[in-house]
Amino acid sequence: MKGSSAAKCSVCGGEAVYYSPLTRQHLCEKHFASYFRGRVELVVDRYGMLGRVSRTVVVAASGGKDSATVAEVLAGIASRRGLRLLLVHVDVGVPVFSEASRRSVLELASRLGASAAILSLEEALGAAVHELARRARRPVCSVCGLVKRYMINAACLAAGESVVFTGHNMDDLATYVLKNFIMQDLPAIRKLVPVTEPIDGMAAGRARPLYETPEREVELYAKLRGIPFTGEECSFKPHSTLDETIRRAISVIEEEKPGTILSMMRRLAQSARQYPESRYPLKPCRHCGALSSRGECSLCRLTRRVLGEPLGPRVKEYVEVVVSRALGGCGASGAPSSSH
Ligand SMILES: [Zn+2]
Ligand SMILES: [Zn+2]
Repeated sequence: MKGSSAAKCSVCGGEAVYYSPLTRQHLCEKHFASYFRGRVELVVDRYGMLGRVSRTVVVAASGGKDSATVAEVLAGIASRRGLRLLLVHVDVGVPVFSEASRRSVLELASRLGASAAILSLEEALGAAVHELARRARRPVCSVCGLVKRYMINAACLAAGESVVFTGHNMDDLATYVLKNFIMQDLPAIRKLVPVTEPIDGMAAGRARPLYETPEREVELYAKLRGIPFTGEECSFKPHSTLDETIRRAISVIEEEKPGTILSMMRRLAQSARQYPESRYPLKPCRHCGALSSRGECSLCRLTRRVLGEPLGPRVKEYVEVVVSRALGGCGASGAPSSSH
């Protein structure tokens, strides 16, 4: 008798590995996996995520557990619907961390029978992210976010699609909601919905299949299914951020009042349009055509200041070459194999 670990699956009576406070069910490994996939698929369908895909499901793959899990679940759905999967990974050149991340993405792609476009910042710009950040005198994470956003957007558009699937889970998104509320950045909250719209060929929209899935479920699913991912942390990750404090608060709320965060996110999906839109008018970058607020996109501005010229056009061209090689390459365009 081992206390809670001796609990029986509410469906089949087998040994339970998970208790869902939402459905008040104990679940065995097999029934947890179908519960997990079922809930993710429900979100994908409810928000019409795959209806926005013409042929290629583009997943922003970091090498971590969340995006790997999204890719694994989408691979199953995509193959049933005759769509192909493309994992887009940005290698920002951080020693150890970036190598581990890249390896995980390649392993995942081969396991899922998906194509992988590995975009290297050093190949595109001749510098790793911390080098750019140092020269720009900006925090590494802010430069990293900027170049990743730019390259993933460009990759999605190069693949002929208008939506990128990301691995943000419910806890990540709830953290951003609360943080933006604290900072009173209300237009940012408006964007924290399951699906955001693309902007006239300048920027891809985002689809977040884990919108209603708490992090601990993603973690358990990824481990039980043996999904390849890296637990390696970036050496530039700052310590004791406001995000981490908010995250702890969220887990206390969930522990004491299960379901509260889920209902917040569901309500937000309905009410987000009541939040104000960003005040800056959006227009294409005069150098590269990407989304910008003042006529020059953040990547062109950064590279102009740090490397002497706006390199958006060069990065865009590099991304197009890598994506077309990934999609057109030998065996890359086949339907992903079923992951069962
Ligand atoms: Zn069971
Ligand atoms: Zn630009």
